[in-house]
Amino acid sequence: MTAIIVILLAILGASLGSFFNVLIHRLPRNQSIIKPLSSCASCGYKIPFYLNIPIVSYIILKGKCKNCGASIHWHHLLVEIITPVILIAVFYKYGIRYGLNHVLFFKYAILCLMMIPIFFTDSFHQIIPHVLSIPLIPIGLLFSLHPFSDLMFKNAAITAIVVFVFLYLIALLYMLIRKQAGLGGGDIWLLTGISTFLGALNMPFIFMLSALLGIIWFVIFIRKRDLEFAFGTFIAVTTVFWVFAGDSILTLIWF
Ligand SMILES: [Zn+2]
Repeated sequence: MTAIIVILLAILGASLGSFFNVLIHRLPRNQSIIKPLSSCASCGYKIPFYLNIPIVSYIILKGKCKNCGASIHWHHLLVEIITPVILIAVFYKYGIRYGLNHVLFFKYAILCLMMIPIFFTDSFHQIIPHVLSIPLIPIGLLFSLHPFSDLMFKNAAITAIVVFVFLYLIALLYMLIRKQAGLGGGDIWLLTGISTFLGALNMPFIFMLSALLGIIWFVIFIRKRDLEFAFGTFIAVTTVFWVFAGDSILTLIWF
């Protein structure tokens, strides 16, 4: 039974990954995500369904458009692989323990999966589209209303408000002092959305770990002052990491 579920989740995840690739390419360019269905970014060639199979098509076509030969960026393949991997990992963590129809499986699957397009739009375009970040807030709040959720509505709502106001004030202060935007609006909405899923206990760790990751990255790879800095990528990575390791780390700290 588990094997069948894993195979189905792999197919679902790869298809979702394919859709995420469309979001990653088109949202930062303000293009429609529905029309045209799937087309080559270079020549506009409409990709027929038999050449639009996630992972398989990329490998068969060797990462090139069949019509114009333009190479398709490797991140397309990566997204189509990483999406089912994360979905199956959430299943092993929450689906097997609580059941596939349990609220926690859906909650953490949605949270982790949403981090994928956010990670890539922010790292490639320094943009966290509002259509990806803001919906996290009502979705997280809805999950907190469920009786079997691991976070109460009060906690989710208050944490979100505190995080939003806190970050907004920091951004405002930075703007007044440095006369330039430090913390982007996208980061504020993203962290507010994540708050409604993770609550007051976990958010300090999300802040600390993503800041730490960002600083390490900055020191190793960038070292240029006043360079556009994609903080959202570190928030996204930290969030997925925390969904899988957060409870173990908290247990280690408490006991
Ligand atoms: Zn083409």
